Amino acid sequence: MENKTEKCKCLIIGSGPAGYTAAIYAARAELKPILYEGYQPGGQLTITTEVENFPGYPEGVQGHQMMEDFKAQAKRFEADIRSGMITEVNFSKRPFTVKTEDGKTIEAETVIIATGASVKWLGLPSEQKFNGYGVSGCATCDGFFYRGKDVAVVGGGDTAAEEATYLAKLCGKVYLIHRRDKLRASKAMQTKIFNTSNIELVWNYVVSEITGVEEGFNKSVNGIILENVQTKETKKIDLDGVFIAIGHKPNTDIFKGQLELHENGYIKTIPGSTKTNIPGIFAAGDVQDNYYRQAVTAVGSGCMAAIDAERFLS
Ligand code: FAD
Ligand code: NAP
Repeated sequence: MENKTEKCKCLIIGSGPAGYTAAIYAARAELKPILYEGYQPGGQLTITTEVENFPGYPEGVQGHQMMEDFKAQAKRFEADIRSGMITEVNFSKRPFTVKTEDGKTIEAETVIIATGASVKWLGLPSEQKFNGYGVSGCATCDGFFYRGKDVAVVGGGDTAAEEATYLAKLCGKVYLIHRRDKLRASKAMQTKIFNTSNIELVWNYVVSEITGVEEGFNKSVNGIILENVQTKETKKIDLDGVFIAIGHKPNTDIFKGQLELHENGYIKTIPGSTKTNIPGIFAAGDVQDNYYRQAVTAVGSGCMAAIDAERFLS
């Protein structure tokens, strides 16, 4: 275990669109930023396929490619990009102290938090039991295993709509299970859903159990039991895979007690800026945005955070 203290002007936590954009701006402003990539280098867009709504790519771009481009641009300006997680922070005094998973301590004059958000699970014991054995949180990662098979997607937002559309190209039938009778997804995504013949919408149902078989270490899903939210009537659908797409949780566990958070766990920022309640700590991207949660808005706030950090230091 290494244990040496390093000093820096600007530490960036997270390598999604917000973190890399902050790194580009901070590096060009000569803040010599250090960026920790975390468990998901490139962030959420690395688990999607085509990104069609990011300006500058008229033909669309693969999410992972876009994030490779962001990283290359940050490296071009000599941002110090490192693998690994930040595991502990102390924001009680400046310089702020941050610990890495490999035992390093960093003292930072400013910190930009860009830790984004993670997949939310339903919380059912059967979901946990079959996770990785028929239950997934990422269609683009696992859809390949369900070619020609029947699957369900749970949720009614853009992620669920996108996952269902993606799976419909590979699978036999896709049941889109939603707890209400209206999708939250954007109009464009809804149109795609309604125009895809092998997607069947199952309105007003929640999942009460995921069923399957277990033989030694082998487990596989064979169905899903649903309950109608109004009538409480239950029904079983036979299928081979279940994709949970009910949204995301902000990655703020390590900041609890250090910063002001909203009730839902997102970081509070002063409107019109990326400033948190602690001078010198800034937050950008999905970790402070429960409303827009888009790559382009994450990029915008990543830029703002670097400018806020630069002005704070000067
Ligand atoms: P994220 O992309 O969530 O990145 C967070 C980063 O923080 C990760 O690199 C992670 O490793 C790191 N991290 C977390 N904790 C730590 C820690 N303790 N230490 C160090 N690092 C840490 N938006 C669009 O505009 N267009 C789309 O087409 C689109 N498609 C999407 C498809 C899917 C399936 C999903 C899930 C989202 C999609 N979005 C899309 C939304 C978009 O991906 C997000 O808005 C965007 O990625 C948010 O960027 P971010 O930088 O805030 O965080
Ligand atoms: P979201 O918009 O929060 O939608 C979550 C969905 O899951 C909602 O329909 C919600 O139902 C449902 N849900 C939540 N908890 C549930 C539970 N316990 N049981 C059953 N259903 C539950 O999340 P998202 O779809 O992940 O999208 C997040 C953000 O990323 C959005 O801003 C979205 O626009 C963006 N995004 C964009 C794209 C794109 O532009 N192509 C693609 C993916 C994501 P209710 O509707 O009843 O609340």
